[in-house]
Amino acid sequence: MTLRFGVVGTGAIGRDHIRRITNTLSGGKIVAVTDVNQLSAEQAVEQYNLDATVYPDDKALVAAQDVDAVIVTSWGPAHEATVLAAVEAGKYVFCEKPLATTAEGCMRIVEAEIKQGKRLVQVGFMRRYDNGYVQLKEAIDTNYIGDPLMVRCVHRNPEVGENYTTEMAVVDTLIHEIDVLHWLVNDDYKSVQVVFPRKTRNASEHLQDPQIFTLETNGGIIINAEVFVNCKYGYDIQCEVIGEEGVAYLPEVPSIVTRKEAKLGTNILMDWKDRFINAYDKELQDFMDSIKKTGEPNGPTSWDGYIAAVTADAAVKAQKTGTKEPILLAEKPDFYQKRVVETV
Ligand code: NAP
Repeated sequence: MTLRFGVVGTGAIGRDHIRRITNTLSGGKIVAVTDVNQLSAEQAVEQYNLDATVYPDDKALVAAQDVDAVIVTSWGPAHEATVLAAVEAGKYVFCEKPLATTAEGCMRIVEAEIKQGKRLVQVGFMRRYDNGYVQLKEAIDTNYIGDPLMVRCVHRNPEVGENYTTEMAVVDTLIHEIDVLHWLVNDDYKSVQVVFPRKTRNASEHLQDPQIFTLETNGGIIINAEVFVNCKYGYDIQCEVIGEEGVAYLPEVPSIVTRKEAKLGTNILMDWKDRFINAYDKELQDFMDSIKKTGEPNGPTSWDGYIAAVTADAAVKAQKTGTKEPILLAEKPDFYQKRVVETV
């Protein structure tokens, strides 16, 4: 069975997903595209030589008989309406972050999905598919390093555009740590606090950079996460989990080692797109394989999208208040507890 995809939003990541489904992965086919900019959708069809229909909007695409699954890669504020339309039509959805820009919006999707009686939605939190994070999780889940006590992580970009704001450090950047860390340590967040170190002169007037976030989990794990988006030297993701019996580090990206002019050197990536390239492939392959095997996607859920939205709201508030802000999650519905998915 080939999963027939419709893509809503043919910008950078939309086209990247079109490319991987068309040229790299197996089991999927792009049959429909749309974008607010019709020309962009038409160009995507041409660029990848697709046998796909260009629809005038997301509603028409979702309603198309031959679309089994919708990839949502439009800009964030448009995600909720498309995801809801697709879920209500009983179609599978792969939605890039954010699932919705508000916690209420995510909850509306959660409720719509529960009403359908099966999982339809996967959120594009690709770090869970990165080999390094998978190994870190294994070290925790097998109790190799004992109970986690502290986590230290770093999210550094060489630079960001003029329109990047202090708030975007949470909703666009830290959001990936927010998702991957609660999954990693198997615990929910309780509070968040933000401190601003001395500001780099490389940041624009409206951006506080760097920022340090302290997240506390219900079980008392303290997570320190640095976001520094004008670090200049490279795109650098680090994570260290300190447990009762040992410490585990996220592996460095493999690189050749050079010896030259009395220096030992390794390369650091500059572009975020290169860092998780394999994880992007794996998340979409898993989406397709899991639907084929069990009738439901297996990756990050709508509930994970909701957790990310609530946590991001609290972190943005903490940027403004400077105090510890509570992270208040609704009770997790039974629907999203680990459950055995029936094989179809
Ligand atoms: P982008 O290049 O700006 O692409 C977004 C595209 O969607 C643009 O072509 C835009 O058209 C179009 N669009 C906007 N509203 C739409 C609507 N209502 N219906 C259909 N198309 C619409 O942005 P991007 O970098 O691809 O990001 C897209 C989404 O993916 C964002 O939510 C972003 O946060 C997420 N993302 C996730 C990751 C990750 O690491 N998981 C990485 C990158 C992006 P116009 O240009 O005409 O506005």
